[in-house]
Amino acid sequence: MPVKVNLRVLGEKDESEFLSGELPLEEFAGDLVDPLMRFGRPLEYELEASLQPDGVLLQGSLRTRLDCQCGRCLKAFKLPLEIEDFSALAPLSGEDAMVRDGDFGDLTPFLREDIYLALPTNPLCKPECRGLARKASTRDSRLEASEGEGPSPWAALDQLKL
Ligand SMILES: [Zn+2]
Repeated sequence: MPVKVNLRVLGEKDESEFLSGELPLEEFAGDLVDPLMRFGRPLEYELEASLQPDGVLLQGSLRTRLDCQCGRCLKAFKLPLEIEDFSALAPLSGEDAMVRDGDFGDLTPFLREDIYLALPTNPLCKPECRGLARKASTRDSRLEASEGEGPSPWAALDQLKL
């Protein structure tokens, strides 16, 4: 189900309409062609739609999740994608006008647009991820690792050598 608003009702009651629900993956996820990420769950939306002279103003929040692979170390991880201050104007006329079907205006493209703009350009498992090369060098610094607070796997290995 696309996200739609009844424009006639919106105009008649002269107050904003609250819309909430989930946009299924097939309605928005298909255009994400990236070897490092794909959408992992439907797009949850909570919106307030209000009629303005030039369109329908949408305000609220959008939430979904990305299933990513780290661009540096290739580890798989899940990344929540949230827009807490989503705001968009769905025009009633002009080139970017919302598609209408009778009384209903389709808001889906406006949600899609913002969620695509919020995608990370280079997904990382953590901001300080140093990638595969760093991981390999950490293994070599055994002393450094055993000085840490927790029990180190290297300590056990050293015991075996005795
Ligand atoms: Zn990483």
